Amino acid sequence: MQRKVTDKLFIILLLVFTISTLTAEINVYSHRHYDSDKILFKQFTKETGIKINIIKGSADQLIQRLISEGDNSPADVLLTVDAGRLERARAAGILQPVQSKTLLKNVPAAMRDPDGYWYGLTVRARVIVYAKDRVKENELSTYENLADSKWKGRVVVRSSSNIYNQSLLASMIAANGSKKALSWAKAVRKNMARTPRGSDRDQARAVAAGIADVAIINTYYLGKLANSSDLADQEVASKVGVFFPNQNGRGTHINVSGGGVTSSSKNKDEAIKFLEFLSNAKSQETFGNVNYEYPVKIEENKSALLKSWGPFKADKINLSILGANNTEAVKLYDRAGWE
Ligand code: FE
Repeated sequence: MQRKVTDKLFIILLLVFTISTLTAEINVYSHRHYDSDKILFKQFTKETGIKINIIKGSADQLIQRLISEGDNSPADVLLTVDAGRLERARAAGILQPVQSKTLLKNVPAAMRDPDGYWYGLTVRARVIVYAKDRVKENELSTYENLADSKWKGRVVVRSSSNIYNQSLLASMIAANGSKKALSWAKAVRKNMARTPRGSDRDQARAVAAGIADVAIINTYYLGKLANSSDLADQEVASKVGVFFPNQNGRGTHINVSGGGVTSSSKNKDEAIKFLEFLSNAKSQETFGNVNYEYPVKIEENKSALLKSWGPFKADKINLSILGANNTEAVKLYDRAGWE
């Protein structure tokens, strides 16, 4: 009798365990909206049996939602772009520290939070694109040089409300100090061919259309233009050259897109597995081939298009500093009158 009860109990436990592993799933709050992610999420489920529910929104919406949901949030992972935002999420208390040998091995130290609250998963470089027919490569050198009066009326950049520009200035604050960063922002604003507006892609379009001669944009947008189904965009990509600034100094400003496990996660093991999966060599290659982003180990890039732009030296600043200097950067852009 006793024996039978134990047997039954064992079978029930086994069933519960089997069902719970079969239905393992994670909820991912993602600001990323790329085809590469769709492919990788599917692959992850295929390999691990862990289902992924994606909740999409803008980074600020998702962060706000995580804050208001608190411990009751169903979220397990937050994925977003820009270290400045990942840092904002950490500061808001919605991420938890993760220790993982795999993540430590796959993600270089400069590309992750020192305490493991977030990990970079892809890299983008903020480069100068130039009109190949009007600008010679040797006229370009550094971000700082775009403040020179020789660029008067020739520069386009998007608005300073955009985090990519905030992070760029945050890196310049770290390198040159606030005073110099402010003079730079003022001078570049004066050199602009038009009021800051539009997306990164629109800046490359403006250069191709002759509105300006140089623009600051993220690398993967060039990949998107070059591989666009729109012929006009393909033409834009063919008319502009890519220049990696500050190669003789600290290196080109880079940023990451990345993720962290939420404080509220009820599936922490699965959430970590998911981040580990995205950091593995094969996933890193997919990010490059499909979304034209560099792997976090930049030198291991396998994308032919990215290789065609040549190797470059990246600024080695720990990206968490971009978040730390974000408020200051926003303030300086305001004072510089950069819309
Ligand atoms: Fe972007």
